[in-house]
Amino acid sequence: MKNPAASYPHRRNWRAILLAVLASVSLLLAHSSWRAYEAARDETFRTEADMVRLADSVAASQQVLLDRTAQQMRILGGISPSGNNNSAACDKFLARQLGIFPAFDNLAFVDANGAVTCSARSNTIPLPALLPGAASPDKLLLLSLDGDELAFALPRKAIQGRVEGWVIAVLPVVAFFPANSQGAVFGLVHDGGLVAAYPANNAWDSRNPLFVKFMRAFRPAMATPLAIQDGMEWLYAAPVKGSAKELWLLVRPPADAATGQMMRMAALMAMALALAGLSLWALGSQGGAYLATINWRRFDLAAKVGHAVATLHKRLRQIQWYKAQRSKDGNTELRVAYQELKHSFADETERMRQITLLGELSQALQGCINSAELTELVARSAVALFPGSSGALLLNAASDIVELHHAWGGSTHQEAFPPQDCWALRIGHPYHAQQAGAVSCAHLREKHADYICLPLIANSEILGVLHLSKLGGNPIEAGIPWAAESIAERTAIAISVIRRAERLQIRATRDALTGIYNRRFMEEALAIEQSRAERRGSPIGLMMMDVDYFKRFNDSFGHDAGDAVLRGIGRLLSSAMREGDMPCRYGGEEFAVILPGADLAVTRQRAEAIRTAIEHWKPQHDGHAFGQVTVSIGVAAFPLNGNSWQAALKVADEALYAAKRGGRNQVATPAQPSIG
Ligand code: GH3
Ligand code: MG
Ligand code: MG
Repeated sequence: MKNPAASYPHRRNWRAILLAVLASVSLLLAHSSWRAYEAARDETFRTEADMVRLADSVAASQQVLLDRTAQQMRILGGISPSGNNNSAACDKFLARQLGIFPAFDNLAFVDANGAVTCSARSNTIPLPALLPGAASPDKLLLLSLDGDELAFALPRKAIQGRVEGWVIAVLPVVAFFPANSQGAVFGLVHDGGLVAAYPANNAWDSRNPLFVKFMRAFRPAMATPLAIQDGMEWLYAAPVKGSAKELWLLVRPPADAATGQMMRMAALMAMALALAGLSLWALGSQGGAYLATINWRRFDLAAKVGHAVATLHKRLRQIQWYKAQRSKDGNTELRVAYQELKHSFADETERMRQITLLGELSQALQGCINSAELTELVARSAVALFPGSSGALLLNAASDIVELHHAWGGSTHQEAFPPQDCWALRIGHPYHAQQAGAVSCAHLREKHADYICLPLIANSEILGVLHLSKLGGNPIEAGIPWAAESIAERTAIAISVIRRAERLQIRATRDALTGIYNRRFMEEALAIEQSRAERRGSPIGLMMMDVDYFKRFNDSFGHDAGDAVLRGIGRLLSSAMREGDMPCRYGGEEFAVILPGADLAVTRQRAEAIRTAIEHWKPQHDGHAFGQVTVSIGVAAFPLNGNSWQAALKVADEALYAAKRGGRNQVATPAQPSIG
């Protein structure tokens, strides 16, 4: 017969062992899930730190973008748009600006009533009606167009501060967000509503409880950055400065496995702990005494459990290490993204610097009155835009010759050369030697490939070449830098303005037929010479000269022959003059000559020389020689014959008539030197 008592402890023993194993496994499970929970929690923290940094850097990049936009728009606003009759030119001007600032989709000028007067692209800009009534802030006004584009408005103010219109720039929404953003979703909030979102508009539902919570939370002024949690979801925000109204950037992290894992592991750990507790409780309630009967040493359970725990621990450490490694890679990706952002900041900052310098150059060029000033400005700007560069300004002379006007930074060129010696002048486009296989222009004294020649073209007229070299150290973009083309464009316009002014100046001071000074110039010059003479106590010699019997000459040989005689007398007078003397055509066939510093005796001598030269001159016209030309000259001196230039000139005129009366072809002095 079997002893029931003998089998009972055995059975009880097995149950106890089972319960003990169950408790141990549960504890191990709890331990491992705790480790997994910790790892997931760390990763969540890391993600959060990354998101805060991402929000900060994207907000900073947006601020740079806004500042740059505002700066460019301010420059544009400073330029007066042409009237309606010239809107095509205005469109063209704005279209060129798009090339300088490619981030813009469109640029426009809008009048005070909100109507577009001209735009870079012909597509109309659907501006919100609020524009004309909007207060005129100094900062940008953000206008949301549709899902893809944002418009910025900056008022153009008249001198009295009245808003006379707006500059509008349209930018794609994409320009506001970095491409590599680890799957995060961005939103821009302005004036209490969502104005732009990336990657998709519907990613931000304004009824989303989290969004509503954010909108409520951000009403009071907040510190940067702001994080809001709604259950499992998080939202990060950073203020974007630079806009007229509060602009906030929202970042929602990508749906993250770490948070879910963290929650799952916490639940698993709780379950395992409960199971372990239950097993231990059952073990305890079934009789701790039986546990004591077990020869634990025989099973070596403690060592086995210890070993299992150690193995599991090792495995968990491995898992943790792999996870840490993965998220480290993630951080590397993020670091690369930051690095890219930083580089793009640097590029933007450089571009902004160049835009500012070009704006300053444009303004300075407007005040330029001669080509010497212009050259200095252009050279200085080129060196500021491209530090370490050298260059030269080569200008077309009147004939078919290009002349070296000025060179800087060690650039050496032929003093004068035909236009075909420059590739840019041959092709009528900028010539980049590096791109063109290193064929150098012939005007360079030292052949090299590190240079660009930019033709200076204004109003379809080629005015010369801007040569820039050693730009290699500062390559902002491949090919011909836009800033170099911009300097060339501005320089060409300024040269053409200066040349036109010089032509007008010549027209205003010179006589068209003879090329010598006109009467207006003579009067202005005499006023200046008189005050100079009074200061120095020096005389001014004056001649009044009239061609004898010129009417007869005209009648005999024709008006053209008469003109040729007048031109010839102009040439003779110019060649007979000393430096500082001024021959003028007083009117008709009368001439006046001003001789600063000459007294009456000297003036008389010089008048006699001129009279003789004309008497011996044999004028010709169309290959025909026609007789002799003579002149009568009256001389006087200031202050000897008058206490003003007008009085002295009148005395010279009277002397001229005396010479006429005396038989012509002679020089006469005033009858009696007198002051009056
Ligand atoms: P006098 O010796 O007394 O000065 O006689 P004159 O014939 O020279 O004087 P008068 O004043 O009678 O005639 C001046 C002429 O000069 C009249 C006009 O036709 C001519 N004349 C004035 N300006 C021009 C011009 O620009 N071209 C030509 N061909 N003739 C001119
Ligand atoms: Mg006359
Ligand atoms: Mg005459």
